Amino acid sequence: MKQVIRKILEYCLGGVLGVISLHCATTVVLAKTPEVSAIRIGHYRGMTRFVLDINQKIKYRIFTLANPDRVVIDISEVKWNSNYGGAKGTGYINRYRFGLFKHGTSRIVLDVTKPVRVARAFMIKPKRGKSWRFVIDLKRTSKKAFETNVKKPVRHPVKKTIIPNQQQDLRSHRTKKLIVLDPGHGGHDPGNLGGRRYRGFPEKTVVLIVARAIKKALERTGRYRVIMTRNRDVFLKLRARSRIAHARQADLFISIHADSIKNPRIRGATVYTLSEKASDREAAALAARENKSDIIAGMDLDEETDQVQSILIDLVKRETMNLSNSFANDLIPQLRKAVILRTRPHRAAGLIVLKGLDVPSVLLELGYLTNARDARLLMQKQTQRKIANAIVRAADIFFNKTYVAN
Ligand SMILES: [Zn+2]
Repeated sequence: MKQVIRKILEYCLGGVLGVISLHCATTVVLAKTPEVSAIRIGHYRGMTRFVLDINQKIKYRIFTLANPDRVVIDISEVKWNSNYGGAKGTGYINRYRFGLFKHGTSRIVLDVTKPVRVARAFMIKPKRGKSWRFVIDLKRTSKKAFETNVKKPVRHPVKKTIIPNQQQDLRSHRTKKLIVLDPGHGGHDPGNLGGRRYRGFPEKTVVLIVARAIKKALERTGRYRVIMTRNRDVFLKLRARSRIAHARQADLFISIHADSIKNPRIRGATVYTLSEKASDREAAALAARENKSDIIAGMDLDEETDQVQSILIDLVKRETMNLSNSFANDLIPQLRKAVILRTRPHRAAGLIVLKGLDVPSVLLELGYLTNARDARLLMQKQTQRKIANAIVRAADIFFNKTYVAN
Protein backbone atom coordinates (compact mmCIF):
# COMPACT_ATOMS: atom_id res chain seq x y z
CA MET A 1 0.00 0.00 0.00
CA LYS A 2 2.76 2.43 1.01
CA GLN A 3 4.66 1.71 -2.16
CA VAL A 4 1.61 2.31 -4.28
CA ILE A 5 1.03 5.66 -2.62
CA ARG A 6 4.66 6.64 -3.06
CA LYS A 7 4.50 5.72 -6.76
CA ILE A 8 1.35 7.78 -7.22
CA LEU A 9 2.92 10.69 -5.38
CA GLU A 10 6.04 10.53 -7.53
CA TYR A 11 3.86 10.42 -10.57
CA CYS A 12 1.92 13.41 -9.32
CA LEU A 13 4.98 15.50 -8.62
CA GLY A 14 6.11 14.93 -12.17
CA GLY A 15 2.62 15.24 -13.60
CA VAL A 16 1.23 18.30 -15.32
CA LEU A 17 -2.35 17.30 -16.01
CA GLY A 18 -5.03 18.74 -13.79
CA VAL A 19 -6.92 15.47 -13.83
CA ILE A 20 -3.99 13.63 -12.36
CA SER A 21 -3.49 16.25 -9.66
CA LEU A 22 -7.10 15.89 -8.65
CA HIS A 23 -6.69 12.15 -8.45
CA CYS A 24 -3.58 12.65 -6.33
CA ALA A 25 -5.37 14.92 -3.93
CA THR A 26 -7.86 12.13 -3.27
CA THR A 27 -5.11 9.60 -2.73
CA VAL A 28 -3.33 11.83 -0.25
CA VAL A 29 -6.53 12.29 1.73
CA LEU A 30 -6.93 8.53 1.98
CA ALA A 31 -3.43 8.09 3.33
CA LYS A 32 -3.90 10.85 5.94
CA THR A 33 -1.78 10.84 9.07
CA PRO A 34 -3.76 9.88 12.19
CA GLU A 35 -4.68 12.86 14.33
CA VAL A 36 -4.64 12.98 18.11
CA SER A 37 -7.50 15.16 19.31
CA ALA A 38 -7.03 14.85 23.07
CA ILE A 39 -4.74 13.48 25.74
CA ARG A 40 -6.26 12.51 29.06
CA ILE A 41 -4.72 11.20 32.25
CA GLY A 42 -6.56 9.85 35.25
CA HIS A 43 -5.60 8.09 38.43
CA TYR A 44 -7.98 5.64 40.01
CA ARG A 45 -7.52 2.90 42.58
CA GLY A 46 -3.75 2.62 42.38
CA MET A 47 -3.63 2.80 38.61
CA THR A 48 -2.73 5.66 36.29
CA ARG A 49 -4.41 5.68 32.92
CA PHE A 50 -3.06 7.55 29.91
CA VAL A 51 -5.49 7.96 27.01
CA LEU A 52 -5.06 9.30 23.49
CA ASP A 53 -8.20 10.16 21.54
CA ILE A 54 -7.28 9.47 17.96
CA ASN A 55 -9.16 9.30 14.66
CA GLN A 56 -7.78 5.97 13.48
CA LYS A 57 -6.21 2.78 14.75
CA ILE A 58 -2.46 3.03 15.36
CA LYS A 59 0.42 0.65 15.97
CA TYR A 60 2.37 0.93 19.20
CA ARG A 61 5.47 -0.33 20.97
CA ILE A 62 6.21 0.37 24.62
CA PHE A 63 9.34 0.12 26.74
CA THR A 64 10.84 1.69 29.86
CA LEU A 65 14.05 3.60 30.59
CA ALA A 66 15.72 4.21 33.96
CA ASN A 67 17.43 7.22 35.62
CA PRO A 68 15.25 9.16 35.30
CA ASP A 69 12.50 6.56 35.13
CA ARG A 70 10.40 6.86 31.99
CA VAL A 71 7.86 4.96 29.95
CA VAL A 72 8.43 5.36 26.23
CA ILE A 73 5.61 4.79 23.76
CA ASP A 74 6.39 4.66 20.08
CA ILE A 75 3.34 4.89 17.86
CA SER A 76 2.64 5.35 14.17
CA GLU A 77 3.39 8.91 13.07
CA VAL A 78 0.53 11.13 14.21
CA LYS A 79 -0.49 14.74 13.98
CA TRP A 80 -0.75 16.51 17.34
CA ASN A 81 -3.58 18.96 17.07
CA SER A 82 -3.03 21.31 20.00
CA ASN A 83 -1.22 21.52 23.27
CA TYR A 84 -3.93 19.43 24.98
CA GLY A 85 -3.97 21.63 28.04
CA GLY A 86 -0.40 21.23 29.19
CA ALA A 87 1.98 18.38 29.77
CA LYS A 88 1.63 17.96 33.50
CA GLY A 89 0.66 14.51 34.61
CA THR A 90 -1.20 13.02 37.50
CA GLY A 91 -0.88 9.81 39.52
CA TYR A 92 2.33 8.02 38.56
CA ILE A 93 2.94 10.34 35.63
CA ASN A 94 4.83 13.47 36.60
CA ARG A 95 5.08 15.05 33.16
CA TYR A 96 4.85 13.89 29.58
CA ARG A 97 6.30 14.92 26.23
CA PHE A 98 5.53 13.98 22.68
CA GLY A 99 6.67 14.63 19.16
CA LEU A 100 7.90 13.16 15.91
CA PHE A 101 10.70 10.73 16.78
CA LYS A 102 11.62 9.77 13.24
CA HIS A 103 9.88 9.50 9.90
CA GLY A 104 6.85 7.28 10.45
CA THR A 105 7.15 7.14 14.26
CA SER A 106 5.87 9.50 16.91
CA ARG A 107 7.08 9.16 20.47
CA ILE A 108 5.47 9.88 23.81
CA VAL A 109 7.63 9.93 26.92
CA LEU A 110 6.01 9.66 30.34
CA ASP A 111 8.23 10.77 33.23
CA VAL A 112 7.09 8.65 36.14
CA THR A 113 7.14 9.46 39.83
CA LYS A 114 7.52 5.80 40.94
CA PRO A 115 8.76 2.55 39.41
CA VAL A 116 5.85 1.35 37.29
CA ARG A 117 4.93 -1.43 34.91
CA VAL A 118 2.63 -1.27 31.93
CA ALA A 119 -0.31 -3.30 33.17
CA ARG A 120 -2.20 -2.98 29.93
CA ALA A 121 -2.23 -1.20 26.62
CA PHE A 122 -5.09 -1.47 24.21
CA MET A 123 -7.26 0.32 21.71
CA ILE A 124 -10.99 0.88 22.09
CA LYS A 125 -12.98 0.98 18.89
CA PRO A 126 -15.06 4.10 18.31
CA LYS A 127 -18.65 4.03 19.42
CA ARG A 128 -21.47 6.51 19.11
CA GLY A 129 -19.48 8.64 16.73
CA LYS A 130 -16.58 9.01 19.15
CA SER A 131 -12.94 8.56 18.23
CA TRP A 132 -10.61 5.61 18.71
CA ARG A 133 -8.88 5.50 22.05
CA PHE A 134 -5.43 4.28 22.79
CA VAL A 135 -5.19 3.40 26.47
CA ILE A 136 -2.19 2.61 28.66
CA ASP A 137 -2.53 1.60 32.29
CA LEU A 138 0.40 1.95 34.68
CA LYS A 139 0.71 0.13 37.98
CA ARG A 140 3.36 0.33 40.66
CA THR A 141 6.16 -2.16 40.72
CA SER A 142 9.41 -2.58 42.69
CA LYS A 143 12.53 -0.63 41.75
CA LYS A 144 14.21 -3.96 41.05
CA ALA A 145 11.49 -5.18 38.71
CA PHE A 146 11.53 -1.84 36.93
CA GLU A 147 15.29 -2.05 36.37
CA THR A 148 15.18 -5.63 35.08
CA ASN A 149 12.59 -4.67 32.51
CA VAL A 150 14.36 -1.55 31.26
CA LYS A 151 14.60 -1.33 27.45
CA LYS A 152 12.71 -4.58 27.03
CA PRO A 153 9.63 -4.11 24.91
CA VAL A 154 6.44 -4.59 26.88
CA ARG A 155 5.16 -7.90 25.56
CA HIS A 156 1.59 -8.10 24.34
CA PRO A 157 0.13 -6.35 27.34
CA VAL A 158 -3.30 -6.94 25.85
CA LYS A 159 -4.59 -9.30 23.24
CA LYS A 160 -7.59 -7.67 21.81
CA THR A 161 -9.23 -4.44 20.90
CA ILE A 162 -12.41 -3.82 22.83
CA ILE A 163 -15.37 -3.81 20.52
CA PRO A 164 -18.54 -2.02 21.48
CA ASN A 165 -21.60 -4.18 21.05
CA GLN A 166 -23.62 -2.28 18.48
CA GLN A 167 -26.82 -4.21 19.05
CA GLN A 168 -27.06 -3.07 22.64
CA ASP A 169 -26.25 0.51 21.83
CA LEU A 170 -29.74 1.94 21.70
CA ARG A 171 -28.53 5.50 21.48
CA SER A 172 -26.91 5.23 18.07
CA HIS A 173 -30.15 4.05 16.44
CA ARG A 174 -32.25 6.96 17.57
CA THR A 175 -33.59 9.77 15.48
CA LYS A 176 -34.79 11.75 18.50
CA LYS A 177 -32.80 12.31 21.67
CA LEU A 178 -34.34 10.67 24.69
CA ILE A 179 -34.67 12.84 27.79
CA VAL A 180 -35.87 11.47 31.12
CA LEU A 181 -37.57 14.04 33.34
CA ASP A 182 -37.75 13.16 36.99
CA PRO A 183 -40.21 15.16 39.13
CA GLY A 184 -38.94 14.64 42.69
CA HIS A 185 -40.82 13.07 45.61
CA GLY A 186 -44.48 12.04 45.34
CA GLY A 187 -47.05 9.95 47.19
CA HIS A 188 -46.34 9.83 50.93
CA ASP A 189 -43.25 11.99 50.40
CA PRO A 190 -44.41 15.58 49.75
CA GLY A 191 -40.86 16.97 49.58
CA ASN A 192 -40.42 20.54 50.80
CA LEU A 193 -43.34 22.58 52.03
CA GLY A 194 -43.79 26.33 51.88
CA GLY A 195 -42.75 28.50 54.82
CA ARG A 196 -44.93 29.80 57.58
CA ARG A 197 -45.69 33.05 55.78
CA TYR A 198 -46.67 31.41 52.56
CA ARG A 199 -48.33 28.04 52.35
CA GLY A 200 -48.57 27.10 48.73
CA PHE A 201 -48.39 23.70 47.11
CA PRO A 202 -45.90 21.06 48.31
CA GLU A 203 -42.77 20.34 46.26
CA LYS A 204 -44.15 17.09 44.84
CA THR A 205 -47.03 18.99 43.18
CA VAL A 206 -45.02 21.98 41.95
CA VAL A 207 -42.32 19.85 40.32
CA LEU A 208 -44.82 17.55 38.61
CA ILE A 209 -46.61 20.51 37.03
CA VAL A 210 -43.34 22.10 35.88
CA ALA A 211 -42.06 18.77 34.54
CA ARG A 212 -45.19 18.34 32.46
CA ALA A 213 -44.66 21.80 30.96
CA ILE A 214 -41.04 20.91 30.14
CA LYS A 215 -42.10 17.63 28.55
CA LYS A 216 -44.61 19.41 26.36
CA ALA A 217 -42.10 22.02 25.19
CA LEU A 218 -39.39 19.45 24.44
CA GLU A 219 -41.74 17.20 22.47
CA ARG A 220 -43.19 20.10 20.52
CA THR A 221 -39.78 20.66 18.87
CA GLY A 222 -39.94 17.22 17.25
CA ARG A 223 -36.33 16.68 18.32
CA TYR A 224 -36.90 14.99 21.66
CA ARG A 225 -38.74 12.09 23.15
CA VAL A 226 -39.48 12.48 26.84
CA ILE A 227 -40.11 9.88 29.51
CA MET A 228 -41.28 10.92 32.96
CA THR A 229 -40.20 8.84 35.94
CA ARG A 230 -43.62 9.62 37.39
CA ASN A 231 -46.57 11.37 35.81
CA ARG A 232 -48.86 11.21 38.84
CA ASP A 233 -48.68 11.57 42.60
CA VAL A 234 -46.78 8.40 43.37
CA PHE A 235 -43.69 7.62 45.45
CA LEU A 236 -40.54 6.37 43.72
CA LYS A 237 -37.23 5.41 45.29
CA LEU A 238 -34.19 7.43 44.17
CA ARG A 239 -32.46 4.45 42.62
CA ALA A 240 -35.57 3.54 40.68
CA ARG A 241 -35.54 6.99 39.09
CA SER A 242 -32.01 6.84 37.71
CA ARG A 243 -32.56 3.20 36.79
CA ILE A 244 -35.28 4.26 34.37
CA ALA A 245 -32.81 6.56 32.61
CA HIS A 246 -30.13 3.87 32.60
CA ALA A 247 -32.40 1.08 31.34
CA ARG A 248 -33.66 3.21 28.47
CA GLN A 249 -30.17 4.53 27.78
CA ALA A 250 -31.44 8.07 27.96
CA ASP A 251 -29.32 10.83 26.46
CA LEU A 252 -30.07 13.16 29.35
CA PHE A 253 -31.61 12.91 32.81
CA ILE A 254 -33.06 15.94 34.57
CA SER A 255 -34.35 15.61 38.12
CA ILE A 256 -36.66 18.47 39.09
CA HIS A 257 -37.01 19.77 42.62
CA ALA A 258 -37.91 22.86 44.62
CA ASP A 259 -35.94 23.78 47.70
CA SER A 260 -36.70 25.13 51.16
CA ILE A 261 -34.61 27.02 53.67
CA LYS A 262 -35.05 28.73 57.02
CA ASN A 263 -34.48 32.24 55.73
CA PRO A 264 -37.66 33.15 53.75
CA ARG A 265 -35.82 35.86 51.81
CA ILE A 266 -33.55 33.40 50.01
CA ARG A 267 -34.72 32.61 46.52
CA GLY A 268 -33.47 31.45 43.15
CA ALA A 269 -32.71 28.34 41.15
CA THR A 270 -29.64 26.06 41.39
CA VAL A 271 -28.30 23.37 39.07
CA TYR A 272 -26.63 20.42 40.78
CA THR A 273 -24.26 17.87 39.31
CA LEU A 274 -22.74 14.90 41.05
CA SER A 275 -19.52 15.61 42.92
CA GLU A 276 -16.63 13.39 41.93
CA LYS A 277 -15.49 12.51 45.39
CA ALA A 278 -18.78 11.06 46.46
CA SER A 279 -19.35 9.26 43.22
CA ASP A 280 -16.25 7.06 43.19
CA ARG A 281 -17.28 4.84 46.07
CA GLU A 282 -20.82 4.71 44.76
CA ALA A 283 -19.72 3.70 41.31
CA ALA A 284 -17.66 0.90 42.77
CA ALA A 285 -20.51 -0.34 44.93
CA LEU A 286 -22.91 -0.16 42.04
CA ALA A 287 -20.50 -2.12 39.89
CA ALA A 288 -20.25 -4.83 42.54
CA ARG A 289 -23.99 -5.20 42.85
CA GLU A 290 -25.15 -5.14 39.33
CA ASN A 291 -24.32 -6.98 36.20
CA LYS A 292 -21.25 -5.18 35.00
CA SER A 293 -21.82 -5.47 31.28
CA ASP A 294 -25.27 -4.06 31.86
CA ILE A 295 -23.89 -0.94 33.46
CA ILE A 296 -21.93 0.07 30.44
CA ALA A 297 -24.56 -0.90 27.95
CA GLY A 298 -23.21 -1.24 24.49
CA MET A 299 -19.81 -2.60 25.46
CA ASP A 300 -19.00 -6.26 25.25
CA LEU A 301 -17.01 -6.98 28.37
CA ASP A 302 -17.50 -10.72 28.53
CA GLU A 303 -13.89 -11.66 28.09
CA GLU A 304 -12.33 -8.89 30.08
CA THR A 305 -11.17 -9.34 33.63
CA ASP A 306 -12.85 -7.67 36.56
CA GLN A 307 -10.04 -5.19 36.72
CA VAL A 308 -10.53 -3.96 33.19
CA GLN A 309 -14.25 -3.78 33.73
CA SER A 310 -13.85 -1.45 36.66
CA ILE A 311 -11.51 0.74 34.63
CA LEU A 312 -13.98 0.93 31.79
CA ILE A 313 -16.70 1.84 34.23
CA ASP A 314 -14.44 4.57 35.49
CA LEU A 315 -13.86 5.84 31.97
CA VAL A 316 -17.58 5.96 31.24
CA LYS A 317 -18.24 7.63 34.57
CA ARG A 318 -15.72 10.39 33.98
CA GLU A 319 -17.15 11.00 30.56
CA THR A 320 -20.67 11.13 31.99
CA MET A 321 -19.58 13.63 34.63
CA ASN A 322 -17.97 15.81 31.98
CA LEU A 323 -21.16 15.73 29.94
CA SER A 324 -23.29 16.47 33.01
CA ASN A 325 -21.13 19.49 33.80
CA SER A 326 -21.30 20.57 30.20
CA PHE A 327 -25.10 20.46 30.23
CA ALA A 328 -25.19 22.38 33.53
CA ASN A 329 -23.03 25.06 31.92
CA ASP A 330 -25.38 25.22 28.93
CA LEU A 331 -28.45 25.35 31.14
CA ILE A 332 -27.47 28.14 33.52
CA PRO A 333 -27.34 31.05 31.04
CA GLN A 334 -30.68 29.95 29.55
CA LEU A 335 -32.29 29.52 32.96
CA ARG A 336 -31.11 32.99 33.91
CA LYS A 337 -33.51 34.35 31.28
CA ALA A 338 -36.42 32.51 32.92
CA VAL A 339 -35.95 32.76 36.68
CA ILE A 340 -33.72 34.30 39.34
CA LEU A 341 -30.64 32.19 40.04
CA ARG A 342 -28.81 31.75 43.30
CA THR A 343 -25.26 33.00 43.58
CA ARG A 344 -23.02 30.13 42.48
CA PRO A 345 -25.88 28.55 40.53
CA HIS A 346 -23.87 25.45 39.63
CA ARG A 347 -23.13 23.23 42.62
CA ALA A 348 -22.01 19.66 43.14
CA ALA A 349 -23.24 17.15 45.66
CA GLY A 350 -23.33 13.43 46.23
CA LEU A 351 -26.94 13.10 45.15
CA ILE A 352 -28.05 9.50 44.86
CA VAL A 353 -30.54 10.20 42.11
CA LEU A 354 -27.72 11.47 39.87
CA LYS A 355 -25.68 8.32 40.18
CA GLY A 356 -26.90 6.82 36.94
CA LEU A 357 -23.28 6.22 35.85
CA ASP A 358 -23.76 6.33 32.10
CA VAL A 359 -26.42 9.01 31.56
CA PRO A 360 -25.53 12.73 31.75
CA SER A 361 -27.57 13.93 34.72
CA VAL A 362 -28.40 17.15 36.51
CA LEU A 363 -30.69 18.03 39.37
CA LEU A 364 -32.51 21.30 39.03
CA GLU A 365 -33.76 23.10 42.12
CA LEU A 366 -36.30 25.49 40.61
CA GLY A 367 -36.39 27.89 43.54
CA TYR A 368 -37.44 28.11 47.18
CA LEU A 369 -40.93 27.24 48.33
CA THR A 370 -40.08 29.04 51.55
CA ASN A 371 -39.87 32.26 49.55
CA ALA A 372 -43.32 33.64 48.80
CA ARG A 373 -42.37 35.06 45.39
CA ASP A 374 -40.60 31.93 44.20
CA ALA A 375 -43.49 29.77 45.35
CA ARG A 376 -46.06 31.95 43.62
CA LEU A 377 -44.07 32.29 40.38
CA LEU A 378 -43.44 28.57 40.06
CA MET A 379 -47.19 27.94 40.02
CA GLN A 380 -47.70 30.49 37.24
CA LYS A 381 -48.05 29.18 33.68
CA GLN A 382 -45.85 31.94 32.31
CA THR A 383 -42.89 31.03 34.53
CA GLN A 384 -43.37 27.35 33.78
CA ARG A 385 -43.28 28.10 30.06
CA LYS A 386 -40.12 30.19 30.49
CA ILE A 387 -38.39 27.38 32.40
CA ALA A 388 -39.47 24.84 29.77
CA ASN A 389 -38.12 26.99 26.94
CA ALA A 390 -34.84 27.48 28.80
CA ILE A 391 -34.44 23.71 29.00
CA VAL A 392 -35.27 23.28 25.31
CA ARG A 393 -32.63 25.86 24.34
CA ALA A 394 -30.04 24.32 26.67
CA ALA A 395 -30.75 20.82 25.29
CA ASP A 396 -30.40 22.12 21.72
CA ILE A 397 -27.03 23.68 22.53
CA PHE A 398 -25.86 20.62 24.47
CA PHE A 399 -26.78 18.02 21.85
CA ASN A 400 -25.44 20.03 18.94
CA LYS A 401 -22.12 20.32 20.69
CA THR A 402 -21.97 16.77 21.97
CA TYR A 403 -23.09 14.82 19.00
CA VAL A 404 -21.98 16.88 16.04
CA ALA A 405 -18.53 17.85 17.27
CA ASN A 406 -17.50 14.31 18.17
ZN1 LIG B 1 -36.70 17.71 46.39
